[in-house]
Amino acid sequence: MEGSLTARDRVGIQDFVLLDAYTSETAFMDNLRKRFNENLIYTYIGTLLVSVNPYKELGIYTKKQMDIYMGVNFFELPPHIFALADNVYRTMISETNNHFILISGESGAGKTEASKKVLQFYAVCCPSTRLLDNVRDRLLLSNPVLEAFGNAKTLKNDNSSQFGKYMDIQFDHQGAAVGGHILSYLLEKSRVVHQNHGERNFHIFYQLVEGGEDELLRWLGLERNCQKYRYLIQGECAKVSSINDKSDWKTVQKALTIIEFSEKDIEHLFAIIASVLHLGNVHFEASAHGYATLNSSAELLGIPSNILQEGLTHRKIEAKAEEVLSPFTAEHAKYARDALAKAIYGRTFTWLVNKINESLVNKDSTRKTVIGLLDIYGFEVFDVNSFEQFCINFCNEKLQQLFIQLTLKSEQEEYEMEGIEWEPVPYFNNKIICDLVEEKHRGIISILDEECLRPGEATDFTFLEKLEEKMCGHPHFVTHKLADQKTRKTLERGDFRLLHYAGEVTYSVVGKFHLIHKFKNCLLLFKVMRQSKNSIIQHCFHTIEPDGKKRPETVATQFKSSLAGLTEILMTKDPWYVRCLKPNHCKQPDRFDDVMVRHQVKYLGLMEHLRVRRAGFAYRRRYEIFLKRYKALCPDTWPHWKGTPAEGVQRLIKHLGYKPDEYKMGRTKIFIRHPRTLFATEDAFEI
Ligand code: ATP
Ligand code: MG
Repeated sequence: MEGSLTARDRVGIQDFVLLDAYTSETAFMDNLRKRFNENLIYTYIGTLLVSVNPYKELGIYTKKQMDIYMGVNFFELPPHIFALADNVYRTMISETNNHFILISGESGAGKTEASKKVLQFYAVCCPSTRLLDNVRDRLLLSNPVLEAFGNAKTLKNDNSSQFGKYMDIQFDHQGAAVGGHILSYLLEKSRVVHQNHGERNFHIFYQLVEGGEDELLRWLGLERNCQKYRYLIQGECAKVSSINDKSDWKTVQKALTIIEFSEKDIEHLFAIIASVLHLGNVHFEASAHGYATLNSSAELLGIPSNILQEGLTHRKIEAKAEEVLSPFTAEHAKYARDALAKAIYGRTFTWLVNKINESLVNKDSTRKTVIGLLDIYGFEVFDVNSFEQFCINFCNEKLQQLFIQLTLKSEQEEYEMEGIEWEPVPYFNNKIICDLVEEKHRGIISILDEECLRPGEATDFTFLEKLEEKMCGHPHFVTHKLADQKTRKTLERGDFRLLHYAGEVTYSVVGKFHLIHKFKNCLLLFKVMRQSKNSIIQHCFHTIEPDGKKRPETVATQFKSSLAGLTEILMTKDPWYVRCLKPNHCKQPDRFDDVMVRHQVKYLGLMEHLRVRRAGFAYRRRYEIFLKRYKALCPDTWPHWKGTPAEGVQRLIKHLGYKPDEYKMGRTKIFIRHPRTLFATEDAFEI
């Protein structure tokens, strides 16, 4: 009967924990879809926020909305990213402890937008002074700068972050933002030299060519035409309708000034960006044109052009006590050129992050608390998965491990503190998969390192052979030979499959990992770069000594250590989660693709999370708060209750007919086992 539809039937339930059929994926999906159709993009699982990208402006991020959510009890208003931001902030102030918000989801799901909303909320709602406005502006303006250099148009997202980002916002004891610090992870540099069809290079290149002032372009030897640069046109979409490179250029310029980059820094920075574009046009058939662009590159990099040319076309061979230079083939030289372009860009990006950090340093050393924002790539499964997906998925395993440790741990602690008995519910602990990847001497990364650093002819194939030999029999590792038995799906030669906590992924090693030869051959070039007169380049290549004396670190090991560092940072903080979902592949509003969303619900571990939340008691409220909210439902407690809040709650629930097994009374809180109990209580208001 349509007329009798309750609000709940129409708009769904705002907290999945309250869903009757809480463990069913179908019920979960129904609720999500219902809400999405009503433009309600946010739903909670307890304190975890699920968000579905609406792909349209909903008018829900205004100053007015911020005011509504500021200082209000988390569950009393409809779910919102501001509610979460506010709750984290107030908990930090009242408990003087550190927190982090982990934002995850697949490309285009809305992670970066969510993290910006949190930052904006703090910028508007935290107390401020003129001095602090500086910090606030820099925190906010670090975004357009990092997005210009670290984001690109991809098939999935016109503004796709090509790096993982962790940002600490530091607050003083009055709750004012006083500083910040940014860490970046695994910039996807291959985009500098190659883009797939329909994708672009990093925004900054197009911004410079489209928006750079005439004089600047002249100085950099650039033409105002993206089509002239090989590195900009492989995706055949230099222009994108949703992006205005010209005005973005202005925003970035302004931001750089406010973040206090010196004129010299800015000059050197764009000399580098231009040098990469020129480098992309270098040919190795020694045509006059090819070498002309090499001269431009060399000049902008502050390196004598004959030295740069030598570096790009030769490799160093150690013969007895002598160093001999052996010429590359044209093919090798192209490879070296691209490797150099990527190295220059990647290191400049790291320099940029450090420079921004210098401007965010909090000079005051008094005690401060921190909220960390982690905007990091979600689990990735493509048709062909290579080393990048391997790293990203490993990162997700580590974060899942952290979730298990932090969330289960705090859950247990709370029951203990409140003197509540509970029985832990079993869950899948993915530590075994983390170990498979990262264990010292035995994990996949160690084996990869060994092959990368082994003298002689190590190849992708020998790496795979070693893996097959050492991992054979591991329950989460599938090789070509064992494929049929374990997953009943065949596996190509040259691939291996990992059974991740979120699902299985097949990685193509041969011809895709490319790690082994990536690592060698460029040693001479690094030496050349150290002679640069460009202060940024000097700085970027200064400390790197891949000359065989010290065992160099491979990309995989670097990534592993940076993740270990991140885990350490997060372990000491209280976790909050935002899980972003993408409703369709076409970046369109009002389209909810069931299959696609269900898939994400699965690999984001949402059902698992719900189960963990439900493992003990679904709901807990402090006695005062519970009483305040529901006292009108019982004549004994309404309008005033004179006894202790705990006694009041006891009286109230007796009146409501709670059964003994439905709840437990802790020291300061009531714990309710089944969401439907609380739900019935909520419904009692409507009767
Ligand atoms: P990637 O992993 O590729 O960086 P992402 O998860 O960071 O992806 P975003 O860049 O945040 O994705 O979002 C992609 C696009 O979706 C945005 O540019 C915006 O157009 C739209 N979008 C995301 N969140 C919202 C929102 N809350 N309201 C309106 N539009 C949104
Ligand atoms: Mg992003």
